[in-house]
Amino acid sequence: LSSRASGVLSALNIPTSGEVHGVYDGQWKGSGDIMESVCPTTGEVLARVKTASPEETEIALEKTREAYASFRNLPAPRRGEILRQIRTALSDKREELGALVSLEMGKIKTEGIGEVQEFIDICDYAVGLSRMMNGRVVASERPGHSILEVPNPLGVVAVLSAFNFPVAVYGWNLALSLAAGNATIWKPSPTTPLCSIAVTSIIAEVLKKNELPGAVAGLVTGGKDVGEALVNSHDVPLVSFTGSERVGRIVGQAVASRFGKVILELGGNNASIVMPDADMSLAIPGVFFGSVGTAGQRCTSTRRLFLHRDIATGFLEKLRKLYMSIKPGDPLAADTLLGPMHNKAAVSVYDGTVEHLQSISAEVLCGGKKFNEAPFNAGNFVRPTIAVPRSVDMKDKIWSTETFAPILNAAVFDDLEQAIEWNNAVPQVSEDQSVLESPKAEVVATSQGLSSSLWTRDVRNIGKWLGPSGSDAGIVNVNAGTSGAEIGASFGGNKSTGWGRESGGDAWKQYVRWSACTINFSDEAPLAQGVNFSL
Ligand code: NAD
Repeated sequence: LSSRASGVLSALNIPTSGEVHGVYDGQWKGSGDIMESVCPTTGEVLARVKTASPEETEIALEKTREAYASFRNLPAPRRGEILRQIRTALSDKREELGALVSLEMGKIKTEGIGEVQEFIDICDYAVGLSRMMNGRVVASERPGHSILEVPNPLGVVAVLSAFNFPVAVYGWNLALSLAAGNATIWKPSPTTPLCSIAVTSIIAEVLKKNELPGAVAGLVTGGKDVGEALVNSHDVPLVSFTGSERVGRIVGQAVASRFGKVILELGGNNASIVMPDADMSLAIPGVFFGSVGTAGQRCTSTRRLFLHRDIATGFLEKLRKLYMSIKPGDPLAADTLLGPMHNKAAVSVYDGTVEHLQSISAEVLCGGKKFNEAPFNAGNFVRPTIAVPRSVDMKDKIWSTETFAPILNAAVFDDLEQAIEWNNAVPQVSEDQSVLESPKAEVVATSQGLSSSLWTRDVRNIGKWLGPSGSDAGIVNVNAGTSGAEIGASFGGNKSTGWGRESGGDAWKQYVRWSACTINFSDEAPLAQGVNFSL
């Protein structure tokens, strides 16, 4: 292993030789297929991970159920105390974990550390929440009666996560799930197992110190089969899935068919609209970060740019200059702003989309090529691309599809209504079966309704944008880019992004079961609605 990689792994006690156990249910194990973790920057194999066999997945589920049976009785503020300790343990390893995210996923260092910070922040939030997850008392129409709406934990919560946020998405789920009294079992992306192993080890230490079962926060690494086992298990009342629309649709249907609960956080085909009165000193860097940040691999990345005719030419020229000036580099280096794409499959999606742009005679203002020179040819480095397709045909996949790569498609509009229509004109469910069935569909799928942003200083535009005739996305920003959400508000998208909500706001309410409890403390037993049933 290179010293670059072994330094990052050793700091988190991940073995730098031999095979790494990828299952935790109170004990570390793994006797299933071997999965390689590959560095997107150098192509180096970082580790060989022993994933969960079918039997180990079953046992882990059983252990999680057992862990739940004791954990649910711990008072919520005490669960908050456990989260406070997890927060501290993560904070102690913030830099190291952030570096691992950069090493294994490929995002730049500040973003890697930012992801860990997000986990820390949601722990803080959930510590507070553990004293505020209140039900309520409802006025009864019957004398001497009280009605309570009571939240109780659900049981086992399965978290299935995507490659691009290998730490934070689990954090959002774990913190709320644990505060609510559930035991959680995590199936991370098969391409970021080391991040999940490092995070689980840190949490396992805290659980051990508090004499709690390790399976309160279990881990099963593996591929589709392991995911399917959790999704189809009748012992898992809630599946929280983050990933592509294609897989989300399978997961959603499977969970619904057994009347389980599901949270779906799927893709985004996010748009930014720039009005002529916008403050360009905010809008240009905002669109730049939104589209190029994380090499275009955020679910909230800006993929469509709608520019008012009066400012379009100047805006595109300034944006193009920024695009041309960004240099690729090792995401672990402090000054790098452009890291690699995550894997070869992602690069082939980039290539395929550039080919499609050429086939529809789009004007490619910059990019459109990989970095083929050393040292970048060893990794998955591509040039961020701005394209201006000839027409705005929302049925063309260039507009209707989430391409998980740094490719920004721009178009010119004349009035805000038109731009809002384009912003919203994304299919509720994909009509393009060829996209969904293609071998690349793991990475490309039509996914819509997550984030949107309007750049303007005119309050009338803002009113329209936020109201019933405005953006129909789950995230509707003004003078702030499409990406970079905070944990305080609930996070999620509408339509084929799946309608799920995680993190802040009322998201915690999905991690509990609600009961309406009527208590009669009188000497009579009247029926509701005045019904008389006496002989
Ligand atoms: P993916 O759908 O390929 O994989 C997600 C997870 O599902 C992985 O853990 C994978 O192993 C598992 N999986 C695959 N097939 C399965 C099956 N049949 N049953 C059960 N599990 C299965 O997604 P990805 O490529 O890792 O991530 C990129 C996608 O995730 C993008 O579309 C992106 O927009 C989306 N995403 C959304 C959010 C959000 O909050 N809305 C956040 C991050 C990423």
